[in-house]
Amino acid sequence: MIRVGVNGYGTIGKRVADAVAAQPDMELVGVTKTSPDYGAEAALRHGYDLYAAIDDRAAAFEDAGLGVAGTLRDLLDAVDVIVDCAPAGIGERNRATYEAHDTPAIYQGGEDAAIADDSFNARASGEIGDVDSLRVVSCNTTGLSRLLAPLDEAYGVEKARVTLVRRGGDPSETDRGPINDVVPDPKTVPSHHGPDVNTILPDVDVDTAALKAPVTGMHTHSVNVTLERKPTTAEVRELLRAETRLFLIPEGAGIDGAGALKDYAADVGRPRSDLWENCVWEESISVEGRDLYLFQNVHQEADVVPENVDAIRELVTDTSRAESLARTNEALGVGL
Ligand code: NAD
Repeated sequence: MIRVGVNGYGTIGKRVADAVAAQPDMELVGVTKTSPDYGAEAALRHGYDLYAAIDDRAAAFEDAGLGVAGTLRDLLDAVDVIVDCAPAGIGERNRATYEAHDTPAIYQGGEDAAIADDSFNARASGEIGDVDSLRVVSCNTTGLSRLLAPLDEAYGVEKARVTLVRRGGDPSETDRGPINDVVPDPKTVPSHHGPDVNTILPDVDVDTAALKAPVTGMHTHSVNVTLERKPTTAEVRELLRAETRLFLIPEGAGIDGAGALKDYAADVGRPRSDLWENCVWEESISVEGRDLYLFQNVHQEADVVPENVDAIRELVTDTSRAESLARTNEALGVGL
């Protein structure tokens, strides 16, 4: 059993914790919280051991009637690997603590690529050597890597151009925006997302531009890929349909946007209405000459979750990538 700890039980951390707990070859030793809020109470309801992320806060949990099993240092002593799910930039501050405990660590996409020995996506990363840390790339980079890897393998990507319409904030982030506009963010073009894809697919030429919209459900990508060879539309649809972490939204399903997608996820029993797969509108997949066009949606809270599970096996076991993907998909029920 791989003993796993999650440091930072927020949007990503609580989902990673549940996904780890669902793996037959993993044991979730515990999760950390910085304060005894509703998330801490919910973690205990799940039966997860709670640890204080910051040493001198342990008493605050006891005062709130929430028992803690120890502090982050105790958790690090008890695990084979720690998954850092703290807010962007805090992982960098936590790194010294993990290294002092000699604990292999997985970081999230809000951190700079330099934080870890390598960046990771289960479908698209090349061979990863003997490393002590990995960074699971961001939700947008994960979504683009999963899409561009099979296209590059099958037809060669000459140049990809993607416009990302990003959600303004997650549903629980009441202080985010914009609330009544669509704004370029960043205003500079190309955005940093393309270079981030190159941490996974170094040879794929990709330019990205990004906007922020007053929605919380999902990101939307408008994708144009100039291919080296010239497949038919039907061939591209079949290629993408065969990818386990891509969901081709069927024509006629009546799914017209993120609202209906999340409703569908809830109806089929997904925890938290999570969509772990890229959601590609099948009828948008069109080839004109060597240019492929499509729209895809990415559930920012969820698509990186199976990737974190695979990153754990990549970091601390000899399990092959294919075997890990299959195990994760099976245990979570990935594939719509
Ligand atoms: P979040 O704010 O929802 O959760 C972070 C949690 O970490 C909170 O519970 C916070 O209290 C806790 N925390 C704060 N300081 C801490 C510390 N010093 N040690 C441990 N925990 C601490 O953030 P999130 O959205 O889950 O993002 C986490 C990481 O995942 C970031 O790098 C982010 O860029 C990345 N990410 C986020 C999304 C998304 O859409 N939310 C998608 C992909 C990747």
